[in-house]
This record gives sequence, C-alpha cells and structure tokens, in this order.
Amino acid sequence: MPILLTDFTDAEKGGRFSLHTAWRLPDGRIAATDGHIAVIVEADVSTSGTISIDENAKRPREILNIMEGHGRIREWQPLPEYPQCEDCGGAGYTIDEGESKDCGKCDVTFGSDVVKRPLANKLVNLPDCEWATTSKDDMIPFRFTGGIGLVAPRR
Ligand SMILES: [Zn+2]
Repeated sequence: MPILLTDFTDAEKGGRFSLHTAWRLPDGRIAATDGHIAVIVEADVSTSGTISIDENAKRPREILNIMEGHGRIREWQPLPEYPQCEDCGGAGYTIDEGESKDCGKCDVTFGSDVVKRPLANKLVNLPDCEWATTSKDDMIPFRFTGGIGLVAPRR
C-alpha cells in the first residue's frame, strides 16, 4: 500500500506556508504536514498524492529540526486501543446539516496525552506505526515502515 500523502497535507491553500501538497526535501525524502500532523517519508517508499517541486514555495524549514530527536528514542510502542464509537462510527466527526462537527467522544489516549480521533485515524493507515512518549516535546513522535512523524495532542 502506498503512503497516502494527502492524509497529511492541508487541502486549503493560503496561510503562511504552502502546505496543500507534499514536498521533496534536499536529501530526497518527502515531507508533508497540515500543521497538526507531519511526516517525512523515505525517498524510496511508494507514495500517492502530489509532490510539489516548487522550490520557491514557502515551507516550514524546522520540519527537519523537530524530527531530529527520533533517532535517540529507544522505546517505541504499538498504537493504543482506539475506542468504539456509536456516535460517529470511529471517524471522529459527524456531519450535521452539511457541517462537519468534531465527535469528541472517541479521541485516542497516547500515554498522558489525548489525540483527536480524526488525527489518530491517520496513523492507522501507516505500515507498522509505533509511537513514543517524550517529556521534552509537546508533539508525539511516531515512526512507521518507511518514515517518521509527529502528531499534536489535544490541548
Ligand atoms: Zn466518535
């Protein structure tokens, strides 16, 4: 299964950065983020979704720095249990009169943090995804076959 880059990009154009497509890093890897979740995928991994080659597009350069700590993490854990939800069926949102509304009842607990269900669901599609606790960063590190990432807990 190719890694679906559009799971991790911001479909909306605009804002401070161009995040509506993934982009290639100088080392050949592919980065994508929507501001709440970020991934870096190895160059030789199969992906689907657009990869922008616009070198002038503004991207968050710190994406490499914030992922520096992954190599020092010694303990990774399998994904936690995802709660069943009768309200949204596990999607994490409901559609009410055409408006998408956060369910909020089935968010996923990662150690001492809680991740919104729609965000947590993106991890399920990554091959062999594992996560780690960290005392230093406020983002939750994860890794998978072919890449690494960070996801923001609920505040
Ligand atoms: Zn729900």
